[in-house]
Amino acid sequence: MQRKFLLSENDIPENWYNIIADMPNKPLPPLHPGTKEPIGPEALAPLFPMELIKQEVTPDKWVQIPDEVRNIYSLWRPTPLYRAYNFEKLLDTPAKIYYKYEGVSPSGSHKPNTAVPQAYYNKQEGIKKITTETGAGQWGSALSFACKHFGIECEVFMVKLSYEHKPYRKVMMNTWGATVHASPSTTTEIGKKILAEDPNATGSLGIAISEAVERAATNDDTKYALGSVLNHVKLHQTVIGQEAIKQMEMAGEMPDIVVAPFGGGSNFAGLSFPFLRLNFDEGKNIRCIASEPSSCPKLTRGQFRYDFGDTGGMTPLLPMYTLGHDFVPAPIHAGGLRYHGAGVIVSQLLRDKLIEARAHDNVEVFEAGVKFAQAEGIIPAPEATHGIATVIAEAERCKREGKSEVILFNLCGHGNFDMKAYQDYFDGKIVRHEVTEEEIKASLARLDTPEIP
Ligand SMILES: *Cc1c(COP(=O)(O)O)cnc(C)c1O
Repeated sequence: MQRKFLLSENDIPENWYNIIADMPNKPLPPLHPGTKEPIGPEALAPLFPMELIKQEVTPDKWVQIPDEVRNIYSLWRPTPLYRAYNFEKLLDTPAKIYYKYEGVSPSGSHKPNTAVPQAYYNKQEGIKKITTETGAGQWGSALSFACKHFGIECEVFMVKLSYEHKPYRKVMMNTWGATVHASPSTTTEIGKKILAEDPNATGSLGIAISEAVERAATNDDTKYALGSVLNHVKLHQTVIGQEAIKQMEMAGEMPDIVVAPFGGGSNFAGLSFPFLRLNFDEGKNIRCIASEPSSCPKLTRGQFRYDFGDTGGMTPLLPMYTLGHDFVPAPIHAGGLRYHGAGVIVSQLLRDKLIEARAHDNVEVFEAGVKFAQAEGIIPAPEATHGIATVIAEAERCKREGKSEVILFNLCGHGNFDMKAYQDYFDGKIVRHEVTEEEIKASLARLDTPEIP
């Protein structure tokens, strides 16, 4: 009974996989917010270093990982892949359940897989400071760690709700030398504007992005970094799935189903894209399922259309599944999933029915997370519990149908800094929450951006 499938440092991938090269329908271009005409990569130059902009649009199937980045990856990569025997037993399912565990990174999630190369390319281009947003605090911690390594200053706008719920995430960022503001803050124009309208605003990822972008756009030696959504972020995360393929081969199996929680799409992309490559290249038929909260259901109930990536409307217009850029999700604990839109690549894949999506209720996901923790030991990040809820649903289907399908999911982070969320769950303070059709319609009706036929 082998539980763990471990690789050696030599197995850290040498390239990132760019799924765009294999997509039957390429993503539509971003549009200029004013003219609504397609924009080229140069429009991103005030915010990102050139190398990342190149990666954002590259048609190449493989992008080489710099040695220095692989070297830092080796602090925690390759990450382990486990067979969840105890969880299978608890669920009494004939399904075989595996999980890739990204919680072994310094900051406790998959986020450093992209934070490190992003800091590296900024350093290469002489950038002194990087600003960013963070929801649950996972991205801010990852970027703080990466910036410290390369001697770059890091300023983080943290969604106020999380700032209050997760004081130790802030201390973690401070330990790696970063400055952290609760967002909306009084240090930016957009933050001041939002606080003037609602002094008790709990914030959202969209607002925090606007603050970080504003800071970078108004300072020459400062760039901005995004922890999800963009193509280059998804690209960097594909180290997860490439390792997982090798590990599933060690286990002598291939997944029938690959599952990952979904915020903007980066950990989902990281695990699933290399498996989708097997679908494209080898005719395999692996189902890839993205799991989102029913309180922020852009994939399952949003519209595919052009929208802004941030609340303030400062980013280019992106073709994506969205609930509308000023949709403020209910204050659920999975801060990392409180984002109104889905990344462009994943949106196109969903539209082309090459991937699937599921939404899960807040109570259901905590039930799933506690079950998993009690069976396998690791306490999952609240975001990760959404994937586990999908795994349970699929394992139950396998039981009904008498099938021993192989399920692989991304345990993309641990929940050791999320005890407040678990405590609220045990205290009965986590309640079911469903967005109404009226709320979604009203939010989408506020968009004046082009619909995509
Ligand atoms: C950030 C984060 C997410 C959501 O972001 P994606 O880009 O969709 O991966 C999910 N889980 C954890 C643990 C995170 O830190």
